Amino acid sequence: MGNYAIAIHGGAGRLMTGSLTHEQEKAFTDKLSDALQTGYTILSNGGSAVDAVEATVRVLEDCPLFNAGKGSVFNSEGKNEMDASIMNGKNLKAGAIAAVQTIRNPISCARAVMEKSTHVLLAGHGAEKFAEENGIDIVDPSYFHDEERYQTWLATKDKEGASWAGDTAIITPEKKLGTVGCVALDSAGNLAAATSTGGMNNKKFGRVGDSPIIGAGCYADNKTCAVSCTGEGEYFIRQSTAYDIAALMEYKGFTVAQAATEAIKKVAQLGGEGGLIAIDNQGNISVPFNTSSMFRGWITAQGEKFTGIFR
Ligand code: ASP
Repeated sequence: MGNYAIAIHGGAGRLMTGSLTHEQEKAFTDKLSDALQTGYTILSNGGSAVDAVEATVRVLEDCPLFNAGKGSVFNSEGKNEMDASIMNGKNLKAGAIAAVQTIRNPISCARAVMEKSTHVLLAGHGAEKFAEENGIDIVDPSYFHDEERYQTWLATKDKEGASWAGDTAIITPEKKLGTVGCVALDSAGNLAAATSTGGMNNKKFGRVGDSPIIGAGCYADNKTCAVSCTGEGEYFIRQSTAYDIAALMEYKGFTVAQAATEAIKKVAQLGGEGGLIAIDNQGNISVPFNTSSMFRGWITAQGEKFTGIFR
C-alpha cells in the first residue's frame, strides 16, 4: 500500500487569535477532526481519494458551523444558493453544480454529474432536476434556513454588494462561516479534490463563485496535485488559482509548497483574500492563506494529525 494523506479546510477569514471562546474554538476543531477522520478511515481501508473527499465534505456540509450545505449564507433575495465541485486526478474527470437551492449535499450531486453525465457543470433548476433523477437527496429550501445567519443577512442586505463570508467586519466572529474543501491522496496513488459553499453573504442571486469552477476553486491531476480554495471567489476565478498550482508544478518544476505559495501571492496582488489546501502525489501538504485565519486540518502520510484556525 502506498502513501495516503488528507487535508481539509473550513474557510479562510479575518478571525484574530482570542476572538473565539474556548468552546467555540473546540466546536470548530472537533468538527474538523471528525471530518478528517471520516476521510482518513476510507483511505486507510484502501478506499479511493474520490470516496474520501466526498464523504469528508458531506460531514462539513451537514454541520451548520460552516458555509456549505446546512450552514450556507443568504443571497440578495434572502435565499440559500449553493455551489460545489469535485475532481478525480486519475482521469481528470470533474463534476460541479452551481446556484442550487434544494440539494441537501451538493458535493454528492457534483460527483453524480462527474460520473453519470457527459457534462462537467450543471446550474440551477437543471442541476436540481438531474439530482432528482439520480436519487440524490432533495430537501425543501427551508432545510438550509439558519436563523442566526438570516439575521446577519437582514442586517447587511442594504449595503452595496456581496460580502465574503470571511469578512468579519460583516460577519462577527461568532458567526464566522467558511466554505469547505478536501484534498486527498489514496494508497493507489490517486488524487482528488472537492469544494462546497454557500458563496458570499448577500451575493446577487445567480452569482457563481470559484468553488464550482474547475481550475479556479478545485483541481486534481495525478501528475501534480489536488487543490481546494476558499476566499473571495472572483479573484480565484480571475487567476485560475487551483489550476495555476498544477501548472507551476508541471511546467516549472515547483514543489507543491512553492506553487501554492506563489498562487496565493498572485491572488493577493490582485487584491483578493483567501487560502487553499493542496496535496501532491507523494502526500506533501501545503495550506497557504493570506488572511489571519483559516479553518484547516490534515493527516500526513506519517499519520500526524493537525487541526487549527489561526495563523
Ligand atoms: N470562495 C467562496 C465564493 O466566493 C467563498 C468562500 O470561500 O468563503 O463563493
